[in-house]
Amino acid sequence: MVLRRLRQLAAAAALLGLAAAVTAPAAVPAELAAPASAARTAPAGAPDARFEMVSTTDPAKPMRWLACRPIEYRINTKDMPAGMVATVQHAMAVLARQTGARFRYAGRTSHTFTSTSHAATPTVYIAFTKRAQVAGQTFGGAGGEIGVGGPAAAWYRTGGTTVEAITYGRVLLSSRFTGPRTGGGVSWQALILHEVGHALNLAHRGGATSIMHPTLTAATPARYTAAEVRALRRVLQTTRCDYAAWSHL
Ligand SMILES: [Zn+2]
Repeated sequence: MVLRRLRQLAAAAALLGLAAAVTAPAAVPAELAAPASAARTAPAGAPDARFEMVSTTDPAKPMRWLACRPIEYRINTKDMPAGMVATVQHAMAVLARQTGARFRYAGRTSHTFTSTSHAATPTVYIAFTKRAQVAGQTFGGAGGEIGVGGPAAAWYRTGGTTVEAITYGRVLLSSRFTGPRTGGGVSWQALILHEVGHALNLAHRGGATSIMHPTLTAATPARYTAAEVRALRRVLQTTRCDYAAWSHL
């Protein structure tokens, strides 16, 4: 019996100076410092800043995804640049190959970044926006943001047991971004990997040669670092997944 049900949302943002990046990604200095505002994306008081959300019962452990079955991802194609479904699928394939987890494209969705509903299976929702001001973010322009992402989790307590897990992840990407589709650097592939990393529960971490660095630069790689893969594997539960309990979240 469900005694109590709580829901918590967390989000984070990638920041990028678009003025230089759009026309000449290679010219963006690798030493570009992370904007001070990036720090606000980590939840205050998080005991482990490597993750956006931690367990309500054990703050030393991150909230996890049930990943014994494929995690689904859906794309809201409103405002999406043409051909971007293939780019998202390419980035998700990189993620799957690196982590060993399975991700399945489940088609289009009307789910927006601020929607709080979710499917009956763990799902990552990816949406686009042409707007400059949305979801508390300022997209585009010099120093403007190009994406935001984060996980949502739910939990309930029954008897002496707490059931908790990530229920969905959400990503919002700025249609104003015009980097190359694939490869590293200031690219769509790096942007998608970064924001999906947030949606999967990774916080900002690492230096300029890490996907989860708060700013994309010419030094941003086309794939997660080994340390990021280890962190991703910590949040992707691939054995003993209790989907029946999850269905109550
Ligand atoms: Zn970020």
